[in-house]
Amino acid sequence: MAKPPKFQAIRGTRDLLPPETALWNRVEETARQVFATFGFGEIRPPILEPTELFARAVGSDTDIVSKEMYTFEDRDENSTSLRPEATASVCRAYIEHGMQQLPLPVKLYYVGPMFRRERPQKGRYRQFYQIGAEVLGGSDAPAIDAEVIEMVMTFFDRVQLPGVQLDINSIGHTADNCRRGYVAMLKGALEKVKDKLGADSQRRVETNPLRVLDSKLEYEQPIIETLPRIADHLCDECKAHYAAVKRQLEMRGVLYRENWRLVRGLDYYMRTTFEITAHGLGSQNAVCGGGRYDGLVDLLGGPPTKGIGFAIGEDRLILSLQESGKVADEAGRDVYIAWMGERAHATAIRAAKDLRNAGFSVELPPVEQKFGKALERASKLNSRYALILGDNEIAEGSWALKTLADGSQQKFTEPELLDFLKRSRD
Ligand code: ATP
Ligand code: MG
Repeated sequence: MAKPPKFQAIRGTRDLLPPETALWNRVEETARQVFATFGFGEIRPPILEPTELFARAVGSDTDIVSKEMYTFEDRDENSTSLRPEATASVCRAYIEHGMQQLPLPVKLYYVGPMFRRERPQKGRYRQFYQIGAEVLGGSDAPAIDAEVIEMVMTFFDRVQLPGVQLDINSIGHTADNCRRGYVAMLKGALEKVKDKLGADSQRRVETNPLRVLDSKLEYEQPIIETLPRIADHLCDECKAHYAAVKRQLEMRGVLYRENWRLVRGLDYYMRTTFEITAHGLGSQNAVCGGGRYDGLVDLLGGPPTKGIGFAIGEDRLILSLQESGKVADEAGRDVYIAWMGERAHATAIRAAKDLRNAGFSVELPPVEQKFGKALERASKLNSRYALILGDNEIAEGSWALKTLADGSQQKFTEPELLDFLKRSRD
């Protein structure tokens, strides 16, 4: 038979392994707790969706849809794609389940993998994870924008994300006296300096002038600084909304920085946009992007619906926490049971069950080990205690518990032992 090939994870995907997965779980658990305190419930949409959903919601001329989606023809469905983001799915679900009948606004969050065929690098993967939330329906009161931002910042605070920086902006709405007028003016200004711009920006002058503001190219920076700014061209309503969002953030003690160049890549964003960066991530330092998208549900065939949301890049969040070195080592065992002899094995099995039921992590070796070997393995597994069960201990009904950190040893009866361990835990 031919030698089997050496299989490897697909480029841009990776295995998340223990002990790192404990950190992922802690982060997700914290998100669930914090979001619940703000009245959000979890939605778990499918990972596969009709390609057309993303073509409409994200925009068929965006990089995400035109170049980065994993799309295939299912045998009996139409074109199907792995989701590159989840806002479109949440809006689809909102429409499909008639959620506008529920008390509004509907507040939902999700946690899960997204797929984009991008060039893999630090903090950028082809399968990556997002933790996101959406507020759909009801009003577009500035307090909603501010509360959503307050919620993400509370979460980042709770997980102790280092160097958190919140940037906000308003990109107005699509009207001649607001964003459309501004973009036309921006385009005019860009055309005058077009020959000084790089190829990407030159293309964007035609396709999506706002995106030129995203440019990180050194030599384009002085040119961009001279361009007209959207804050000076918002309509009165959008201007008032933005001012109120800022006031609301201040009332909540949320520190922000205004960034006139912050425009979101997705077409449906309007008014409030925000981005949060953190330390330790190099150039991929955005850990969260969000904003208001009042027209999106209508665009997908639903009723006119206000909407705002954000998506956190969980991979980057975890990277930043790891780089900060504040991550506790969560591996290890509470108790390693070093048993010797058939009778002791039976007792060890029972003791393991009792200890596990009390919530302790227990390592129970499947075969008998020499005493020295057992202690060696106990410390390799980073165990706090070794419980020694041999013929003598069983006969005397007095169990020996060794504290591995200092080598000290104490004797207990079975009920005393459980008591002692419980007390040493709190
Ligand atoms: P970026 O400018 O970093 O590509 P984006 O504008 O594509 O971000 P969004 O679509 O708003 O990002 O997604 C929200 C967050 O998801 C980002 O801020 C980032 O933390 C994370 N993210 C996006 N793409 C990837 C990826 N390929 N790998 C890992 N995380 C990602
Ligand atoms: Mg991107």
